[in-house]
Amino acid sequence: MIVVAATQNKHKILEIDAIMKAFGYKVISRSQAGVPDIDIEEDGETFEENSLKKALEIHKLCGEITIADDSGLMVDILDGAPGVHSSRFAGEEGNDQKNNEKLLKLLSDKPLEQRSAKFVSVITMVFSKDKIVVARGECKGHILFEPRGENGFGYDPLFVPDGYKESFGELFSEEKNKISHRAMALQSLERQLRSLNL
Ligand code: IMP
Repeated sequence: MIVVAATQNKHKILEIDAIMKAFGYKVISRSQAGVPDIDIEEDGETFEENSLKKALEIHKLCGEITIADDSGLMVDILDGAPGVHSSRFAGEEGNDQKNNEKLLKLLSDKPLEQRSAKFVSVITMVFSKDKIVVARGECKGHILFEPRGENGFGYDPLFVPDGYKESFGELFSEEKNKISHRAMALQSLERQLRSLNL
């Protein structure tokens, strides 16, 4: 059976497909499913709202089982910002580098013990409009004083997960994928699918 991913990010699709395979599902991108390339506005106040919105919209367009994830970084001393605004923290015209610069500036006078943060990922799977599975994953850590490492994307060079010395930007993807927020959400999804006997 086919599952259509709301994301176009090949890396995320591979991660999701690796889990879904065990349940007999093949994950394909929305363009592979022939879904028109519409822009879904991520205007929710929570990762759950945005993740559900994306999965439902694509489900309405193609009628297949769909899966969507919404993720971001939450910094404790900033009351959870950038949160759902993670990708456009430095504005609509921003990019990863500008987002990171803004974050460092906001934390410039904060010592290590006030730099705790977490990455969050919420994955939603829509089987039909009444049959929906939601899985949340978190990865706790802290924000560095300057970027380190070239791997990954987004805030990876600034984030050190608890129990590690290296930032996500310094860790190899295999290592990050064992402990990341997305990996935790996928594990939760897997447990739920098993208990639902799907
Ligand atoms: P989205 O879920 O792909 O929309 O991601 C939202 C934003 O959160 C990204 O643009 C990044 O800025 C940030 N983000 C989410 N997951 C990660 C991650 O694993 N590493 C670094 N940044 C991330």
